[in-house]
Amino acid sequence: MRQKIVVGNWKMNASKIQSHSLSSELVLELNKITSNKIIIICPPTPYLAQVESLVAGSIINLGVQNINPNDLGAHTGEVSVSMALDFGVKYVIVGHSERREMYGDSNEVIIAKIQKTIAAGITPIFCIGETLEQRESKQMQRIIAAQLNAIIDTLGVEIFPKTIIAYEPIWAIGTGVTASTQQAQDVHYFIRGLLAQHNNQIAQKTSILYGGSVNSANAAKLFACEDIDGGLVGGASLKADDFLAIINS
Ligand code: PEP
Repeated sequence: MRQKIVVGNWKMNASKIQSHSLSSELVLELNKITSNKIIIICPPTPYLAQVESLVAGSIINLGVQNINPNDLGAHTGEVSVSMALDFGVKYVIVGHSERREMYGDSNEVIIAKIQKTIAAGITPIFCIGETLEQRESKQMQRIIAAQLNAIIDTLGVEIFPKTIIAYEPIWAIGTGVTASTQQAQDVHYFIRGLLAQHNNQIAQKTSILYGGSVNSANAAKLFACEDIDGGLVGGASLKADDFLAIINS
């Protein structure tokens, strides 16, 4: 049985007050239910201490949206793995398209981040996905395979299933346009097949999440697909009701 996982990526959103109320509401509601899903929230780094204390004792796990692969030193503005560990962080988002596109996270940088994260006992949530142009020009499979194989070629397929994969078509992130269940399932099946070329057992155990405008209306259908093991949720994770509805999907 693969683990079902729902991740909330707050990105650079929410204030200290909003972070407090969102975390508190989630804890209050999630304390009323039993869930076999792994629930992770990734607040902005300045709110880690606050969110850590609010979610303590609940089923919510803490993640960060980025990490610097260096141990310490002259890296102005960056956060190390050991700093994240100090706040009980268990997951790190790596390779998000916003970081690849806006902050130059190359395959080499992503590999270093994954390596450091795993070495610290933290689970990477490794994001891959194609642009609309790449999909329309039938490059999607080549792009996805290149993103995945860049990691496997260097770190080995054995980093899975300890590493979670998030398939996030870039054209669906923050756009309100969600991949259809068939489009999403097809790519998830393809990704699992790529893993299986290296090791079928690992492929069957690895959780592959879908991300891209997941909301309370489309989550259930997406999560019901055979190869979709949950979601990486941006915008809809900022409202407790929406995020809870997605968790319950
Ligand atoms: C994301 O943050 O990775 C994401 C998928 O965002 P959204 O759900 O807003 O599309």
